[in-house]
Amino acid sequence: MSEYNSQPFERRPSVGVDVGGILVGGGAPVVVQSMTNTDTADIDGTVAQVAALSRAGSQLVRITVDRDESAAAVPKIRDRLDRLGLSVPLVGDFHYIGHKLLADHPACAEALAKYRINPGNVGFKDKKDAQFGAIIEMAIRYDKPVRIGVNWGSLDQELLTTLMDQNHAAGSPLTAEAVTREAIVQSALISSQLAEEIGLPRSKIILSAKVSQVQDLIAVYAELARRCDHALHLGLTEAGMGTKGIVASSAAMGILLQQGIGDTIRISLTPEPGGDRTREVQVAQELLQTMGFRQFIPIVAACPGCGRTTSTVFQELAQSIQSDIRTNMPLWREKYPGVEALNVAVMGCIVNGPGESKMADIGISLPGTGETPSAPVFVDGKKVATLRGAGIAQDFQKMVAEYIENRFGQGAGAHAAE
Ligand code: SF4
Repeated sequence: MSEYNSQPFERRPSVGVDVGGILVGGGAPVVVQSMTNTDTADIDGTVAQVAALSRAGSQLVRITVDRDESAAAVPKIRDRLDRLGLSVPLVGDFHYIGHKLLADHPACAEALAKYRINPGNVGFKDKKDAQFGAIIEMAIRYDKPVRIGVNWGSLDQELLTTLMDQNHAAGSPLTAEAVTREAIVQSALISSQLAEEIGLPRSKIILSAKVSQVQDLIAVYAELARRCDHALHLGLTEAGMGTKGIVASSAAMGILLQQGIGDTIRISLTPEPGGDRTREVQVAQELLQTMGFRQFIPIVAACPGCGRTTSTVFQELAQSIQSDIRTNMPLWREKYPGVEALNVAVMGCIVNGPGESKMADIGISLPGTGETPSAPVFVDGKKVATLRGAGIAQDFQKMVAEYIENRFGQGAGAHAAE
C-alpha cells in the first residue's frame, strides 16, 4: 500500500515583516486580517468596527485613508482603541495622495503600523516614481513596513502598454491575458526593487497581487512566489457576496496555501446590506483551521442529515453547540488554554454517528427516524453515557462544558493524573 500524504507542501520561505508586533512571513503562522468599510473620518463608527473585527480575531485591520479628515482621525482612532485595551495594528490604505497625507499628518504616519501603497495609482507619468519614493521615505522615517499591493483593476497602465508592445513585437506573442498577469507580477517586483533601492529593507516589504478570477489568482501568486522571497499577502479581490465570495476565495487561497504560498490572508467579502463585517474574519479563520494550518475555535463536525433524520433535533443541536462555542470563546480563550483544539461531533443517526463521534473528543449520535430514541455520547473514543428524553440537547451541552473544564480548566493536570 502506498503512503498517503495528507499534509500541505512545505511553507515557502519568506522574509518576515513585523507589523506592529505581528510577524508576517518568516515562518510565522498565516496571519488573518480584514478591512473596515466605515468612513475613517467617522471616529466612533470606525473604532466600533475595528474593535469588532479585532475581537473576532482579525490580527491586523486596514482602514481607508483617503483625505485630510480621515488622516486626522487616525491617531484619535488609535488612541481610543488603546484605551479599550485593543492593540490591533492599523494599516493605512492609501491611493493617489498618500505621499501628501502622510507628509501633512505626521501623527497619522506615526499611529499606523503599516502603509499600503498601490503602484497603479500612486501617481502618473513623471510624478509616479517621486510620489512612490516619498511614501517609501516616509516609511523609512517612521520605521514602518509597507505593503505594495497591486490590483488588476488599477494596474499600472504604462507598464501594461510597454509589455503589450514588447509582446506584439515578439515572434511568438502571448495572449493579452498572459501579458496582463505578467504585468501584475512585474508591477509588484519592480516597485519592491525601487523601494529597496531607496533604502527600505526587504524585512519591511509585503507584496500582494490581487485579481478577481480564481485561476488568474493562482497563476499570478505562483509566479510571484517563484520570483521573490518577500512575504505575501493573499486575497481574491472583488470576491463577491455570500457563498460565491466564500467559495471563490477559499478555492483560490486554499490551493495557494496548500502549495505553501501565503503569509497573511484577507477574505474580501461584500457584506449583505446590514450584514456583519466580521464574517470575513470568521471565513478566513475557518479556511485556515479546516485546512489544518491554525486553530482558532473548537470545530463542530455535523453530518448533513438525510432521509433518516426527519426531525430537526440534530440540526438544532449542532447549531446551538456551534453558537454556544462562538459566544463563549472570548472567555474560554482566557480560561481554558488550548480549547481551540477541541473537536465536537453531532451526528444524525446510527449509520455514521457512532463512528464519527468516537473520532471526536466528544460526540453524540442522535437517533434517526425509527431508531430507539436514545443518544449515545462518546468521550475520547469511549461510550460514556446514553441520553434520552426531551432534554438531550441541554444534557449534551452540559457534558461538553464539563469536558472542557476537565480537559482545559485549571484542574486539568490533576484530572489527567487521576
Ligand atoms: S449519519 Fe445518518 S443522518 Fe447523518 S447523513 Fe449519515 S445516514 Fe444521514
